[in-house]
Amino acid sequence: MRGGHFLQSLNDGRSVWLGGEKLSDLPAHPAFKGTLETIKTLFNQLDDPEVRDKIGFQVPGTERYAHSSFLVPYTSEQLAKRSESFAFWSQETHGMMSRLSDYARSMVTGWYAARSELGQLDPHFESKITAYYEKARDQDLFLTTAIIDPQIDRSSSLDDSRIAERFLHVVKETSEGIVVRGAKMIATGAPYTHDFLIFSFLKFKSEERKHAHVLIVPANSPGLHIVCRESFADGREQNHILSSRYDEMDAVLFFDDVLIPWERVLLHGDSEKVLALRANKTANALAFHQNVVRYVAKLEFVTGIAFAIAEAIGANGFLHVQEKLGELLTQISVMKALVIASETQARPDAAGVLVPEISYIDAARNIGTKFYPRAIEIVQQIGGGGFVQAPAGVEDFYGPISKLMHLYFEGASVSAEKKVQLFKLAWDLVGSPLGSRHELYERFYAGDPVRAYANQYLGFDKESLTDPVWRLLMESSKR
Ligand SMILES: Cc1cc2nc3c(=O)[nH]c(=O)nc-3n(C[C@H](O)[C@H](O)[C@H](O)COP(=O)(O)OP(=O)(O)OC[C@H]3O[C@@H](n4cnc5c(N)ncnc54)[C@H](O)[C@@H]3O)c2cc1C
Repeated sequence: MRGGHFLQSLNDGRSVWLGGEKLSDLPAHPAFKGTLETIKTLFNQLDDPEVRDKIGFQVPGTERYAHSSFLVPYTSEQLAKRSESFAFWSQETHGMMSRLSDYARSMVTGWYAARSELGQLDPHFESKITAYYEKARDQDLFLTTAIIDPQIDRSSSLDDSRIAERFLHVVKETSEGIVVRGAKMIATGAPYTHDFLIFSFLKFKSEERKHAHVLIVPANSPGLHIVCRESFADGREQNHILSSRYDEMDAVLFFDDVLIPWERVLLHGDSEKVLALRANKTANALAFHQNVVRYVAKLEFVTGIAFAIAEAIGANGFLHVQEKLGELLTQISVMKALVIASETQARPDAAGVLVPEISYIDAARNIGTKFYPRAIEIVQQIGGGGFVQAPAGVEDFYGPISKLMHLYFEGASVSAEKKVQLFKLAWDLVGSPLGSRHELYERFYAGDPVRAYANQYLGFDKESLTDPVWRLLMESSKR
């Protein structure tokens, strides 16, 4: 089964660091065990005739199923199939696992789909991306992205040697490839990915050639160190369901003179070309579409918890609580509407690829940075002190004070034990280290929200809105 194969494949000599220790057996390590079990189960679904059509497609000319994030959509049915696969995995994980690689895989699929356009940037691009796309699709490669440069001094640029030395750059070119040095700030899923999609983030001056690149880097490359944040995994499933299954590890990448073979160097040495690839609408729309479909599942999960809490403590009859629950439903409807709009307004690009309408996706990603923190706030406002009233574990229901536990933790409409379980689940979402990380993630995963909103304004055809205003003023001045 593919899940087992995925776990075995991680024993490939990669250099993963956690709390001063270099890890050798990720699937057995408590920080990764639950998360990797979840991924294993999801990967196995592609071998399950009952569900494989929901998440996969049959690779033309073969019997083999590949994940639908690798499907290039030329028809609305194919676009819907991609969407269905994103929704399925998101619902299976309650929207809590954002980087199951279907996002980064979609980016590769987008580059492949736009290969003839992007091939104009470099004569080798088309053959390289075709070979890589087929390999990733046929070998079920797990992928993630590492884009942002380390947070050293955001007021400085590459003119500052401290920055230039630390941001990822080429130190040598050889017949085998380029040797790179520097760091990347955060890559979610880094310890258990097969490959990283790496591209430079800043707009560089043309003379700053060595910092401009688009690379696909194997996680076990010699000299590459994957440095994990603190683990938020908690193996006590009964008390911390989410933390026991869904801690997607974030890690910093140190490149200590890493050789990137030429076939993995998609672009380098020209910041304008790197920017052109990064701005490619087909690739971005296919990848960001996953983000928004996933987001709907997460909002539905948070809303389900809010409803259950309100009912469990008899707060659902209060007007202001109903107003807040209605606000959560409005969030879901807005997000769903934007997904539907992006899909129904999809248009073919020059190569005939059906590209979701990115303006709706951008709007969803931007508004999502505000929706999730607000949704979490609402859960807290409804649950009140109930989150910390819940005991350390459910074990006391089976111990000497069992009778008192059943008496004093009773809910309005649920048993004491169910109520405690519910509040512990909710705390995992709103108050645990994992929960806090999720709030931070939704604020920042799509980039700096301030600049993302500003970009929506900057890229908009402003005259379409200001012209009618000026026309009205002109008409009224003639009267
Ligand atoms: C949980 C989590 C997971 C992530 N996973 C990934 C991943 O898998 N892959 C990946 O590539 N990235 C990932 N990221 C990184 C994410 O893309 C960045 O956090 C995001 O782009 C914001 O950049 P930053 O964190 O460096 O913030 P900064 O850019 O350092 O911003 C810090 C503050 O300074 C302000 N600021 C900084 N520069 C400017 C400027 N020039 N103009 C105006 N204001 C400015 C910002 O508005 C903000 O308030 C992840 C982030 C989080 C939190």
